[in-house]
Amino acid sequence: MLADLHCHSLKSDGQLSPSDLVDRAAEQGVTMLALTDHDTLSGIDEARLQAQKHDMEIVSGIEFSSVWNGIGIHIVGLGFDEQHPVMQAAVERQEACRYERAKTIAIKLEKQGVAGIWDKAVEIANGAQIGRPHFAQALIDLGKVNNMAQAFKKYLGAGKAGDVKTMWPQMSEVVSWIRESGGVAVVAHPDKYKLTGTKLKLLLKAFSEAGGNGLEVTTGGMESSFSKRMAQLCDEFGFLGSQGSDFHGPRPWSELGKFVPMAKSVTPVWRHWQ
Ligand code: AMP
Ligand code: MN
Ligand code: MN
Ligand code: MN
Repeated sequence: MLADLHCHSLKSDGQLSPSDLVDRAAEQGVTMLALTDHDTLSGIDEARLQAQKHDMEIVSGIEFSSVWNGIGIHIVGLGFDEQHPVMQAAVERQEACRYERAKTIAIKLEKQGVAGIWDKAVEIANGAQIGRPHFAQALIDLGKVNNMAQAFKKYLGAGKAGDVKTMWPQMSEVVSWIRESGGVAVVAHPDKYKLTGTKLKLLLKAFSEAGGNGLEVTTGGMESSFSKRMAQLCDEFGFLGSQGSDFHGPRPWSELGKFVPMAKSVTPVWRHWQ
């Protein structure tokens, strides 16, 4: 059994269609997959259909954007009822929020002298949930930067003009949507927020008090020592442990199914739906 419970398709900022992603996951030996596109469920039906061609279980999944203490925090939802009215309303709200935020990002970048950014970014997103990676590609295409890393460093990363997070809901609200829909709420990639140990614990405490019950113990690119710490924090807070590659596409992202193994002491998140 190999579970990958965090990855992205063309429906948000990934590079593969849900079907191609499922085929690739099967090649990598993945037997349980959650497609966790940013703020949308629109790829799951296609993934589920394609998974019938393989020996693979598709678990409902989503990666919600939120804020806690002014920091952008991603919360993965797993194993919820996709048809639940709370979940349906949440996704509608987030999709609208992404669109409004994109317009704000475009206006701010236009003011920085990037003419034509809105049209370009919308063209690149091509109907997907529009996000900063689409703006990054637009900045490359418009000749403003040479690569994605530069786009985030100069225009889109923390503190830059395109880093608009004020529109996202509070983390506690996002947690309640997932829990009310019957799912596990999971703090995504805890190594990516650049928090001190103390601050991370404060985040997890607030998350737990809001009803959050899971933590990504291992993700693509996470150091083994960090993963061991996350396993201990699962024990301390009584969280279920999750794992996933956060695959967005071949290179430079981590491959599907690839991450350091989860410590045996952790209760895996799939206990929730198995
Ligand atoms: P958004 O959800 O629109 O805020 O965009 C965040 C997404 O941008 C993440 O999920 C990553 O896929 C991508 N991302 C964030 N930071 C970087 C970076 N430094 N280089 C490339 N991609 C990034
Ligand atoms: Mn992404
Ligand atoms: Mn994320
Ligand atoms: Mn992700």
